[in-house]
Amino acid sequence: MPNGVEYAVDLRRRHCDCCEFQVERVPCRHVIACCANQRLDWQSYVHDVYRMDQIRKVYRARVTVAADAHTALGRVEVAQAPISVGI
Ligand SMILES: [Zn+2]
Repeated sequence: MPNGVEYAVDLRRRHCDCCEFQVERVPCRHVIACCANQRLDWQSYVHDVYRMDQIRKVYRARVTVAADAHTALGRVEVAQAPISVGI
């Protein structure tokens, strides 16, 4: 590494000494470098929670909007504009 610090990567255990890989569950730059060196697909080390099919499952449930937000289960704060999610 340019700063002289070395990090050990264990792809089988999904571990890097920088801890970013374990915390974020996304390959850190050290894991990506190891994958490039070993000609492995770094994307296979991205946790399932970040996969689009898993994200779509979260937003699959339908939400029914009450006709009158003030009478439905007490007072409800209503957003001024629709929220757009880029999925
Ligand atoms: Zn790392």
